[in-house]
Amino acid sequence: MSRLEELFGINVFSDEVMQKRLPKDTYKALHKTIADGRPLQPEVANTVACAMRDWAVEKGVTHYTHWFQPMNGVTAEKHDSFISPRENGKIILEFSGKELVHGESDASSFPSGGLRATFEARGYTAWDPTSYAFIKDGVLCIPTAFCSYGGEALDAKTPLLRSMEALNKQAVRILKLFGRDATRVISTVGPEQEYFLVDKKLYDQRKDLIFTGRTLFGAKPPKGQELDDHYSGAIKPRVKAFMTELDEELWKLGVLAKTEHNEAAPAQHEMAPIYTVTTLATDHNQLTMELMKKVALRHGLVCLLHEKPFAGVNGSGKHNNWSMCTNTGYNLLEPGNDPASSAQFLLFLTAMIKAVDEHADLLRISTASAGNDHRLGACEAPPAIISIFLGDELTAIVDSLISDSEYHAAARKDMEIGVSVLPKFPQDNTDRNRTSPFAFTGNKFEFRSLGSSASIAETNVTLNTIVADVLMSFADELEQAEDFRTALHDLIVRTLRQHNRVIFNGNGYADAWVEEAARRGLPNYASTVDALPHLLDEKNVALYARQGIYSMAELRSRYEISLEYYAKAINIEAETCLMMAEREILPACAKFAGDMGRSVRDIREAGVEPVAEAKLLRLVTERNAKLFDAIHSLREAMRNATHSENALENAQYERYMIIPAMAKVREVADDLESMVGKEYWPFPTYDDLLFNV
Ligand code: ADP
Ligand code: MG
Repeated sequence: MSRLEELFGINVFSDEVMQKRLPKDTYKALHKTIADGRPLQPEVANTVACAMRDWAVEKGVTHYTHWFQPMNGVTAEKHDSFISPRENGKIILEFSGKELVHGESDASSFPSGGLRATFEARGYTAWDPTSYAFIKDGVLCIPTAFCSYGGEALDAKTPLLRSMEALNKQAVRILKLFGRDATRVISTVGPEQEYFLVDKKLYDQRKDLIFTGRTLFGAKPPKGQELDDHYSGAIKPRVKAFMTELDEELWKLGVLAKTEHNEAAPAQHEMAPIYTVTTLATDHNQLTMELMKKVALRHGLVCLLHEKPFAGVNGSGKHNNWSMCTNTGYNLLEPGNDPASSAQFLLFLTAMIKAVDEHADLLRISTASAGNDHRLGACEAPPAIISIFLGDELTAIVDSLISDSEYHAAARKDMEIGVSVLPKFPQDNTDRNRTSPFAFTGNKFEFRSLGSSASIAETNVTLNTIVADVLMSFADELEQAEDFRTALHDLIVRTLRQHNRVIFNGNGYADAWVEEAARRGLPNYASTVDALPHLLDEKNVALYARQGIYSMAELRSRYEISLEYYAKAINIEAETCLMMAEREILPACAKFAGDMGRSVRDIREAGVEPVAEAKLLRLVTERNAKLFDAIHSLREAMRNATHSENALENAQYERYMIIPAMAKVREVADDLESMVGKEYWPFPTYDDLLFNV
């Protein structure tokens, strides 16, 4: 075996390891539990726990943790050691089935959005056996779901598991109608992750990067990304060393890290893994982000996952490549070769189109954050309007179905749902439209609106749920049909006619599209505070209830938490902005002006008129006065903040009062940066940060 093959998954309690280490019966029972999505029997849990402990201890592990994903977008862990005292004063290493399956956690320090009454601060974590346990930093990590004692989801994983189940149930119903023998359907995801790398020594000098993850100041450097020379260009040695180590660390954890390359902006890069089942892809993406940060530090670098670390150059996103796959290994978004599978493909495609059109608001909401607000619609990422790109061939097929107003029995016979027009499908769809938020790329959809720092969980909960819901309505209708073929054809044509407004193959960055989308009645929620309130729209509450994903209380808690996070993020930015402007920029500019004043006097004393120096002095002091005013206005705005009981009001205040006040401070400060001597400027500038790795 090659070194790489040996390395891959070395720290994962994988299926292979389980097969090797578990008694046959236990292994089978565990598999059946996973396949059926049922709770684990205590005896099985005990045996699995023992095997897990032995495996981990052999690798020098002393602690275990329930690894979970609270609603703040990151992961949490609390370490417990395996030790258990014996009467002779020694210890034994213990890890029971109960400890594996069930953990207690003081939930009070995690966001709950009012779900947890204050007298009941505890939450519990429960092993999700569909995700493998793994060893990270010498600790056995058990992927778990995190719930309140009332059973409400306090995390990102629980709704994701529920949505996987919902999708499975409805997709299997559809497949049955086509006579398929698949008994399980999963969604699959390959998330491409973008990030920036900056030098740690420079990073340490910038309070904004440290506290907010993005620069709050910085004039545009003379060179940005206009030459397109960074994208997929040669990778610099230090970055290469980072990528090599990152790959190895990811491989050890069983993450299928596949592609590493430079991205459009200077200092920007991307890592794409090979796709896998959505739940695992979600875990893996969290691990990827964590490892990117850790490994970067070992190379004297800092990894920035913020959506917009630098104004004026591209921000970072995450492309969520999504499809559905049967347990018989069949990709449901793969255009089929024979008539029957083509018809089936068309039905699933139609379901996607309807789902995205009906719930564009939810897809938009699932990507909403303070950071991502800088990206969406800024002509480097898709607009806030959700539309679908199908490409020319597929659009032609959809159009021909829609215009097929007269449906003749004769045609029906040899046509089998437009199959005659299906055969030559673009397998490798090269006419990619990069401006579309939701693009069909041959055998999957690529959702490009996600921000780089976010967990992919919520987006995939949304995708699973909205598709499940449409498939449910399709199955309800088709199961009742007297003639399946006719009913199928009618359903597809009718649905496409109702929802083809969401299909758009043109330039998503163009202003014309904003107008056109408005004419089509597509929602355009420009910012987080515009988007989030729609989470509680009646249709959305009903959808999540119908599919068993979120109760009203759970939905409300998510809404509150998102708004709170938004407001807090902006508030931290404002505090940092003030600190840098008042304590660093203003004094530096004053010092420059003072020195310039002395120069003016000296030059004049030497008998020469200091024309340029005097002008510069005037300009800088004028700008400094403006900066002083802008700082004052921001401080006032912060002082007058509402701090209301209503989370939306607080978030709106940040959006409409604080953000513009911060922008004003920045505008003046950036102007000053280009006037004041380099050695006076109190922190590294854009050209230092972007071109020094
Ligand atoms: P590009 O950068 O051109 O969009 P990449 O090859 O970098 O393409 O990324 C494509 C991503 O899509 C990869 O993560 C890949 O594994 C994933 N992918 C491919 N097929 C599927 C599928 N059936 N379901 C989900 N993701 C998929
Ligand atoms: Mg992509």
